[in-house]
Amino acid sequence: MSTPLVFKFGGASVKDADSVRNVARIIGLFAQRPMVVVVSAMGKTTNAFEEVVGYWSRNELELAKEKIGAIREFHFEIIEALFEEPSAVKSDVQELVNQVSAGIDRADLSYGEAYDFIVHHGELISTKIIAAFIGRITPTVWQDTRLLVQTDDQFRRATVRWLETTTAIHNRLDPGKVNVVQGFIGATASGKPTTLGREGSDYTGAVFAFCLGADSLTIWKDVPGMLNGDPKIFQNTRKIDRLPFNEAIELAFYGASIIHPKTIQPLKKKGIPLHIKSFINPTAEGTTIGGVDRATPEVPNFILKKNQALLQLKTKDLAFIVEHHLSAIYQLFVDQGVVVNLMRNTATKAMFCINHDPFIVPSVLAELTDSFDLELVPEVELLTIRNYQKEDELRETKGLNILLEQRTPEVVQFVFNRF
Ligand code: ASP
Ligand code: MG
Repeated sequence: MSTPLVFKFGGASVKDADSVRNVARIIGLFAQRPMVVVVSAMGKTTNAFEEVVGYWSRNELELAKEKIGAIREFHFEIIEALFEEPSAVKSDVQELVNQVSAGIDRADLSYGEAYDFIVHHGELISTKIIAAFIGRITPTVWQDTRLLVQTDDQFRRATVRWLETTTAIHNRLDPGKVNVVQGFIGATASGKPTTLGREGSDYTGAVFAFCLGADSLTIWKDVPGMLNGDPKIFQNTRKIDRLPFNEAIELAFYGASIIHPKTIQPLKKKGIPLHIKSFINPTAEGTTIGGVDRATPEVPNFILKKNQALLQLKTKDLAFIVEHHLSAIYQLFVDQGVVVNLMRNTATKAMFCINHDPFIVPSVLAELTDSFDLELVPEVELLTIRNYQKEDELRETKGLNILLEQRTPEVVQFVFNRF
């Protein structure tokens, strides 16, 4: 197949009938090329299916079925607004709805397997609707990602098996058509559906681009591109026009949420640029990641992580904190799934800024309390500024109660609260 365009549309770009029409318009601008269109579940459908999983796990099957009914109605309304003859698409969707309903009656599934089985229907349903709608303007084929993206059986965070996936993609895609595929999902060798982790459709886009050796991947968003900070949090943010892969990986590491962190790796490996463009203004330039050594413009980047806790540990006998303490603490963090975003130790104290998970943190404290004096400061936030100037730092930290500060020539980080 000659190198196809790979596009990814997320939930927000297909949240109602008007946005689906807009997606079709964008595809129409490019449809003279072979194309793979990766699509997420519509709007908040994945969250809705997660509620179904919750009911299933508590054996509240009536509530689960009610919720599935509501999900069906949400999609039926969109179908009725989009199609003059909605019955064929409706019956496709009804079939998928019946499949989920039958699935929740099964008690033999593990939590992870049931989660993936239920939740992956969001993408199956959205792509049925979108493929049918695009099919009215250009030759289109609905493809089943479960036959394309092959994974292991770590349900809810499956790992892609690259060789099998590459072969399946090459064998099954139709080079003469727009191939509509589901993001976020895959299947095991025995055909059990899996998912790649929440917000994983960006990553699916990168998987297709990698396996096809595509010229680029385009992720269509509701923002003009990648900004140097979240405009809901920071003032005077600017669009970044071009960014090297390494810097994008670093920004994802510090918590910039615009792209799923795993997305960049496969693209970087093959030097495939990633375009982030606005589905509201599709001819505007957006941001391109990759293919350059330096960002343009070279601006500081601001990243805020909320919902953090500052955990401070002191040895009981005021002995120095040394390697064997740290190694035991980190082993516990690994075992319990604690996410450490910043760490610092002094002679007798180790400090960790961690994600404040309401289940994990209390159990970790219980484990540590025999060996250390503990202090936990809840409700802290972590501000990271890359490529900082003194004035950026002064402006952004004004009025904050800073508890811990750490800097290298490129990056400065502050753990603070707002009291
Ligand atoms: N629909 C999935 C989610 O909401 C995957 C994605 O949107 O990327 O997590
Ligand atoms: Mg989504």
